Amino acid sequence: MEKVIAWFRQDLRLEDNPAWIRAVESGKGVIPVYIHAQKEAGKWSLGAASKWWLHHALKDVEKQLARFGLRMIYRQGESEAELFALLKETGSRSVLWNRCYEPHRMRIDGRIKSRLKEEGCEVWSGNASLLREPWEVSTQTGNPYKVYTPYSRTCAKMPDHEPLSTTKSPKVPKDWPKGVSLEDLSLLPEISWDKGFHEFWNPTRKGGMGRLGAFLKAPVKHYDTGRDFPSEDGTSRLSPYLHFGQIGPREVAATVRKQTESSGLKTFYRELIWREFAYHVLYHFPDTPEKPLQPKYKRFPWVDEPAHLEAWQKGMTGYPIVDAGMRQLWKVGWMHNRVRMIVGSLLVKHLLHSWEHGAEWFWDTLVDADLASNTLGWQWAGGCGADAAPYFRIFNPITQGEKFDGEGDFIREYVPELAQVSDKYINCPWEMSEGEQIRANCRIGQDYPAPVIDHKAGRERALEALQKLKEADS
Ligand SMILES: Cc1cc2nc3c(=O)[nH]c(=O)nc-3n(C[C@H](O)[C@H](O)[C@H](O)COP(=O)(O)OP(=O)(O)OC[C@H]3O[C@@H](n4cnc5c(N)ncnc54)[C@H](O)[C@@H]3O)c2cc1C
Repeated sequence: MEKVIAWFRQDLRLEDNPAWIRAVESGKGVIPVYIHAQKEAGKWSLGAASKWWLHHALKDVEKQLARFGLRMIYRQGESEAELFALLKETGSRSVLWNRCYEPHRMRIDGRIKSRLKEEGCEVWSGNASLLREPWEVSTQTGNPYKVYTPYSRTCAKMPDHEPLSTTKSPKVPKDWPKGVSLEDLSLLPEISWDKGFHEFWNPTRKGGMGRLGAFLKAPVKHYDTGRDFPSEDGTSRLSPYLHFGQIGPREVAATVRKQTESSGLKTFYRELIWREFAYHVLYHFPDTPEKPLQPKYKRFPWVDEPAHLEAWQKGMTGYPIVDAGMRQLWKVGWMHNRVRMIVGSLLVKHLLHSWEHGAEWFWDTLVDADLASNTLGWQWAGGCGADAAPYFRIFNPITQGEKFDGEGDFIREYVPELAQVSDKYINCPWEMSEGEQIRANCRIGQDYPAPVIDHKAGRERALEALQKLKEADS
């Protein structure tokens, strides 16, 4: 029996999966493969939270494959060496995969593709991750976009593709190559810190589809405004499912098209296009995970004070909305978008830490850590990327908290020290009198920290740093 290798990466689903469907329709025995090539990504190798998600996503695909009598072959090591070893071991002459857009993946995939062609093997790659390939969208002069709105306008003129499907079942090979077990990949934590993750997530395709269905039933109606309030379940929380490809954007877009049009639905679709924009920028500017898109920011006079970074990471900055967000991240591996913007601003502006420090921490702690969106998000916060918030626009963590968590429901959920603080002080507990602190069971400096930096002083320091950059530039 001829065999085909279906190489899974960030496309962990069997529906609307071009490479998988092509493998099934080839009529050859299908060998599903996952190669854990942890070292290949260098600095951006999977963080602890992503590994947790990946383990469960793979387990879920394993179960789906088992229904057809198929196994997932797990290998560890270098992608190229493992793939060519598999071809030898199985006698297969055919490898199919879906494209990834991380710079290191594109380099390695290109090399593998050339070698497979040289050796006369069939090699084919498809698109399981995006609505549009990054190179399909360009300005009138044929250049990549650096600003979201014109990018999204061009996208809007292009047709959306329907999800792919097949009615065929995969052919089961008679013999299987050797592999290691999923457990051997050691993706799960040795010390169990993942209780909060289990309570918050169902990291399976079914879990993701459930989220999409529930979101489209109600929260989407108020998404325009609801998506800014972290205490509400007002966003889809699809980001990790989309990152790992348990749900594809074509599937989400097709489900959205079937709904009655509403402004919430339109805004939600626009957010999917932000994800596309992030991939567009990463593809065309592959240095951005390490370098700001706006080169002058390479010379920004960051301060990088380790104690401040640690206070930020631990959710001990003294700014309740920031600390609630950072602790949400630690507890459940995800943070609400509005709060990502607030914590990002505090780190990069008030505390003058490089956006890269934020990107690295998020990389390790987010279940949806995604090189394209994380880089775009952090360069946005740092004012140095594509369509970024100007550096001089500095979020006030107190008024942001008052506006988006005025009654403190989100803060109290994640910062128990503040549970008894009244709404009046929930976003500025240091303003409580001594008596009020005792009554609220929250003594500032003892039970909960004083602000790591005064807002006004931090703001002025950030503006001075920007001024220094401008002077150095002129
Ligand atoms: C500093 C910073 C870092 C970020 N890091 C990541 C990251 O590593 N991975 C990640 O997926 N998103 C990242 N984002 C974008 C955004 O915060 C998340 O995509 C969003 O919070 C996920 O929640 P949701 O699925 O409920 O979003 P929803 O509001 O339901 O949006 C639907 C989908 O649209 C996409 N999306 C929404 N907003 C954005 C955006 N601003 N940029 C790109 N895609 C978007 C996501 O895929 C999301 O799942 C970051 C944002 C900031 C400010």
